[in-house]
Amino acid sequence: MRRPLIAGNWKMNLSLEEAIRLAKEISVGISNIEDRDVLIAPSFPFLYPISLAVKGSKIFLGAQDMHWELNGAFTGAVSGLMLKDVGCTHVIIGHSERRILFHESDDEIAKKIKTAIDIGLYPILCVGERLEERKEGKTFSIIKTQLEGAFKLLEHVPESFTIAYEPVWAIGTGHTATPSQAQEVHGYIRDWIKENFGKEVSENIRILYGGSVKPENIDELMAERDIDGVLVGGASLKAESFLRIIRFKIVDK
Ligand code: PEP
Repeated sequence: MRRPLIAGNWKMNLSLEEAIRLAKEISVGISNIEDRDVLIAPSFPFLYPISLAVKGSKIFLGAQDMHWELNGAFTGAVSGLMLKDVGCTHVIIGHSERRILFHESDDEIAKKIKTAIDIGLYPILCVGERLEERKEGKTFSIIKTQLEGAFKLLEHVPESFTIAYEPVWAIGTGHTATPSQAQEVHGYIRDWIKENFGKEVSENIRILYGGSVKPENIDELMAERDIDGVLVGGASLKAESFLRIIRFKIVDK
């Protein structure tokens, strides 16, 4: 069985004091949880103080982005080696806000994924269609293009790889995909991985759902066969709601 992963993407939110408090509340809240992984992705300047604040706890620390080069003249960018230095194990790559607001291309995403794997950071690759694309029946072709783009520099996919299906129309809108809408795309992604990288990889890879996940919908989402966890934005900014999401009910799938 795939180990569930509950990840919080804090985006560009919180003060340092609030961020440290939240990280500590989550680390205390999960101290006796053994059967699932929990990750937080604070903004760059907060990564190091938070890694010190939660040292020894079970929380994994992730960044929200990275550059594909390891160092050099790239003003304003952050390298994966720096992320490892400050305690990150994971990095979110290709979030729709980066693709849309910062015009990140599939080529750039592919380079970031390759570098992350080369240096031992676990990537969480985000894919997802826009509302108009779904309405035009293009969901699977968009997901396919994004997967082909992101994986094109890889010969094999490590077990630690995570994919997050995040329909753009569900992010920050309160309109969650129904469990069956999410399952349909998760199943498609797992089949694509199977076709391209083999059965074993496809059975081990974790596929998260993201898009307006809340305490009210987590249990039904997590009951779906191919949903192995969630990537949570808004509801990860409050300890109470994030901890409730973390404590979702495990059912036989
Ligand atoms: C996200 O940004 O990855 C996300 C899923 O946000 P929200 O939960 O707020 O929709």
